[in-house]
Amino acid sequence: MASGDGLLLRVRPRRGRISVAQLQGLARAAAAHGNGIIELTRRASLQLRGVSPESLPDLQAELRRLELAEGSRAVERQPVLLLCPLAGLDPRSALLEPLAAELERVLAQPALQGLSEKLLLALSGGSDVLARLEADVSIELSADLPGVAQLGVASSSGQVELGSYPSSEVPLVVERLLGLLGATAGAARMRALLAARGVAGLRAALEPLRLSAAPRFARFSVPPLGFHPAQPGGSAWLGLQLPFGSAPAAAWLGLAELARDFGSAEARLMPGRCVLLPGVREAERAELLQRARQHFIVERPTPWLELVACSGAPACRSASVDTRALALELAPLLRTGLRRSATLHVSGCEKGCAWGGPADITLLHGPDGYRLGFGAELAQTARTAALGLDAVRERLSRGLEQ
Ligand code: SF4
Repeated sequence: MASGDGLLLRVRPRRGRISVAQLQGLARAAAAHGNGIIELTRRASLQLRGVSPESLPDLQAELRRLELAEGSRAVERQPVLLLCPLAGLDPRSALLEPLAAELERVLAQPALQGLSEKLLLALSGGSDVLARLEADVSIELSADLPGVAQLGVASSSGQVELGSYPSSEVPLVVERLLGLLGATAGAARMRALLAARGVAGLRAALEPLRLSAAPRFARFSVPPLGFHPAQPGGSAWLGLQLPFGSAPAAAWLGLAELARDFGSAEARLMPGRCVLLPGVREAERAELLQRARQHFIVERPTPWLELVACSGAPACRSASVDTRALALELAPLLRTGLRRSATLHVSGCEKGCAWGGPADITLLHGPDGYRLGFGAELAQTARTAALGLDAVRERLSRGLEQ
């Protein structure tokens, strides 16, 4: 798609996993055919930026060679299936691969082609890692309750539970849900289907598969960042985050080196612009962390100020401020006296490429100055009075609760 800095290409590694060879090839291709910037979105897909129309065919050919893109447009547009990155690493997590393979067969059915390529299915083994993903369909298994899956669908205000189903019937449940979506006029995403049919209507369409007596399982909580030592029966892993969800090709090559030198030659994409390196070793923990810090965030102090900013100037022609430099400049004003974790979203225009909802603080730059919102979405922030930068600094130094 076109964006302010040229074409943007979205890359969706199968199951959210990417090998060292693919990472290296992707980074080199981004530098050779685009501006070298690769973003990791909040929904755990990759975006290459600054691609010119002339270099697009060569880039697409290279992505196909790396098995990061499909030769067929129909296959490329299939809904995405993202697996919890903890599967096989954390012994508390249920095994996901067999069900993932079944679901991929469902998604490849000719009858389901033509659905929105933005559709996202999340398959989780019991952790909370995918909980904030806003997946169209979320499927949760639990190692404590084999044979049962809990399903949820996205609504305009978060996930709505559909109920518990036999895990062996999940492919059929998903097939029916997606079939219903395709047959409902005007509904491209699950939230629209839910609005049109209601929870009761969706459950009725899935009868008699629902298990009414199955207990709701509790998720186990895992902080996404930092070194996680191996538990009995599992493997150690490192979670890291890309500052602003974006990094140049050199940083992605650095990530590939970390996966090759310290891990199992693979990286797993996580929501929240995070990456998990599996198979790391306790004996190399200090060296790994030291090298990872060169490009990435590996720990969060509490409370944590999350900085979100779009590409901004000079990368994006729609922007006239360097949004990321501005966020870094303003962050110390907020961190002083921060009592709870918060998000600062800086946007170079009303398009809001970097963040889709309300943020604790939203700062929007426009032709007549800055606009500041607290707990507001970008559209609400755009309706506030224009401010100069000194007034913004003064307001932010008063803290979050305004
Ligand atoms: S939100 Fe930022 S990156 Fe997106 S178009 Fe506007 S200025 Fe460009």
